[in-house]
Amino acid sequence: IVSRLPHVGTTIFTVMSKLAQECGAINLSQGFPDFNAEDALFERVAHWMRAGHNQYAPMTGMPALRQAIADKIAALYGTAYDVDAEVTVTAGATQALFTAVTACVRPGDEVIVFEPVYDAYGPAIELAGGTIVPIRLSAPDYRPDWNAMAAAIGPRTRMIMINSPHNPTATVWTAEDMERLAALTRGTGIVVLSDEVYEHIVFDGVAHQSCARHPELAVRSIIVSSFGKTYHVTGWKVGYVVAPRELMAEFRKVHQFNVFSVNTPVQLALADYMADAGRHLALAGFYQEKRDFFRNALAGSRFELLPSAGTYFQLVRYGRISDQGDADFCQWLTREVGVAAIPVSAFFADGRDEGVIRFCFAKNEATLTAACERLCKV
Ligand code: PMP
Ligand code: GLN
Repeated sequence: IVSRLPHVGTTIFTVMSKLAQECGAINLSQGFPDFNAEDALFERVAHWMRAGHNQYAPMTGMPALRQAIADKIAALYGTAYDVDAEVTVTAGATQALFTAVTACVRPGDEVIVFEPVYDAYGPAIELAGGTIVPIRLSAPDYRPDWNAMAAAIGPRTRMIMINSPHNPTATVWTAEDMERLAALTRGTGIVVLSDEVYEHIVFDGVAHQSCARHPELAVRSIIVSSFGKTYHVTGWKVGYVVAPRELMAEFRKVHQFNVFSVNTPVQLALADYMADAGRHLALAGFYQEKRDFFRNALAGSRFELLPSAGTYFQLVRYGRISDQGDADFCQWLTREVGVAAIPVSAFFADGRDEGVIRFCFAKNEATLTAACERLCKV
């Protein structure tokens, strides 16, 4: 068999969740809530299903949902996207990212990413024939190095993929970061692919820096988000993309053939649910409480907590406990301690191992308490 991705194995999220299940471990590895969404959301899905909305949605998404998305973005970030030409509903953020890369990246193009990088980005770029140009972020603060970025940009740079709040480091970009990015891409044809799936999970009163908040970036950006994170329904796999019309036209050329359209009753239910902005606005406080609870519960452990400014992830160093590599340490932690985590080396193309692992705290307090009791004993 001739493989198009010879060096790619099974994604770390599948590996660790499977191991957690086999060992009966508490699963703080793959990022998903262990609590349910509200009944009100399920009622809307049932309503639209019974009302007969069970056939193909329009290729670009249900108009009501596209309108709700455009309204939200205008209210929060100040950019008005055209509901018909500049908003598309996708089968989660993963499909949106893959489609955007496929639509924009040609063989020989370079795509700049920040490492540690979410594991879906690299294979998408490679399958498009692009070359990955990684810019390394380092523990403990994982700040972008703008001099490295200036050096990385060249005539072949087609795209820069950014992700704030950032998975796995839980860092959040500042307005100044966005200005640096705008300055470095000014006068170029570079497309910014901005993965904003954690846009509503930014802590300590800090504002999310959407590309839609920065007009100079918005005109060159494809912005991706996901309802899975915002409404606690990662299994529904519904997200969206907004982009200026010329870019969106290219995106849709691919989207129409790799998914065509997305779950109709779920789109209608999400449109209803989005009408109450209080829901997504409450998310930051909701997860900040969980972050603080988790950090307090781990304070007496031998793990060293790194900052968590956004997302529902917490990085820790385990050097006081073990000198194993991070993948081995996560295996041991899952099997012997009964708590599963993600090794951060999985987010580096060369497997760079800084002795840092990632926990997901999108869990009930009882789950976090039980996990931390175990973690405090090691
Ligand atoms: N990007 C990032 C940074 C993510 O963390 C995730 C999933 N947690 C995704 C994209 C994929 O989102 P979805 O489940 O909507 O495909
Ligand atoms: N994005 C989730 C995480 O970082 C996992 C999603 C997946 O399993 N592909 O844990």
